[in-house]
Amino acid sequence: MADAGASGQMVALAREAKGWTQQDLAKKSGMAQGSVSKIERGHMSLDEEGLERVASALEVPQTLLCMGEAPLALEATCLHHRRRASRMAVVTAKKIEGLTQLVGMSAQRLMEEPESGLVLPLHRQPLGPDVAPQDIAAKLRADWGMSPGPVSNMTELLERAGVTVIVRQLGSDAQDAVSGWPPGGNPIVLVNMGLPPDRFRFTLAHELGHLLMHELPDDEQESQANAFAAEFLLPADLIQIELDGLTVRQFGRLAELKARWKVSIAALIQRAAQLECISPTQFKSFRIRLNQYGWNRREPGDLVPEAPMRLRTAIDRHLQAGRTEEELAEIALMLPEQFRRHYLEPTASPLPAATSTNEEP
Ligand SMILES: [Zn+2]
Repeated sequence: MADAGASGQMVALAREAKGWTQQDLAKKSGMAQGSVSKIERGHMSLDEEGLERVASALEVPQTLLCMGEAPLALEATCLHHRRRASRMAVVTAKKIEGLTQLVGMSAQRLMEEPESGLVLPLHRQPLGPDVAPQDIAAKLRADWGMSPGPVSNMTELLERAGVTVIVRQLGSDAQDAVSGWPPGGNPIVLVNMGLPPDRFRFTLAHELGHLLMHELPDDEQESQANAFAAEFLLPADLIQIELDGLTVRQFGRLAELKARWKVSIAALIQRAAQLECISPTQFKSFRIRLNQYGWNRREPGDLVPEAPMRLRTAIDRHLQAGRTEEELAEIALMLPEQFRRHYLEPTASPLPAATSTNEEP
């Protein structure tokens, strides 16, 4: 490795991905906090022993810290957050960003070999005065030659368009996913573990909207990504007929629509209100019913979970080519035990949880 020094940028990234402050790293590596700060700003370099201590405290290989810079990492401005809570601690947001960058680097390096079967084109589609999110969603469905019904597998679609989809514990349930598109690299969507399948699919559609429409953060982007997702999963010209005249007594009909369209009942009700198939008063009554039934926490009618396959396939290809787990960990810039835990063990299953463990008797 040329000029084997640690890069301050990589030390900061690995620290943030752990959800640590500079003080945490100082404590765990036995350094002064001032030194951590100087190292991260590039004002001080680590000697061999310091590098060993910092890498071991952060549980990363020394090679990661000596990467110079994160050439394939995402720009912070490309990270779009789907925050359910409006407030998130800075350290948590940094952790999710850092994690996304590290996972993105690992995935990019593991998938470096050319892949076959990526057939769906994906290009940015800027919004404009005459271009609404739903226009972009409708155009994408047409460009991808999708049949006019429900989306059968959202994850497979994204993967066929070259998007890396990874399910990981984000360490906060205030955020369902994060996505980004590094210059010259593959778009990545990191989804929080444990989302029910309907929310998982909606989240992917929402993130797809961000990837297409948003390069820089702005205030409207959450509602725009939701409008994109709603049209992509429930195209107005098809769903309107099905939702027209819906009454609050018809939860059976909603359950049937949920099974067919693979979206939550809550999303269907939302869509019905958006398309003015129900009045604002009816919408309110629906929401009250959902609360009464406890369905705002967990809906009946679990869907089959979708599993990302692309990274898994790339890893299998490496293993079949005779590469060892240690070699793969090195490619992924991870310690072997971390690599095993996140990518090889059965508990590392990319499946989102089929059901959430809820209190229902
Ligand atoms: Zn979002």
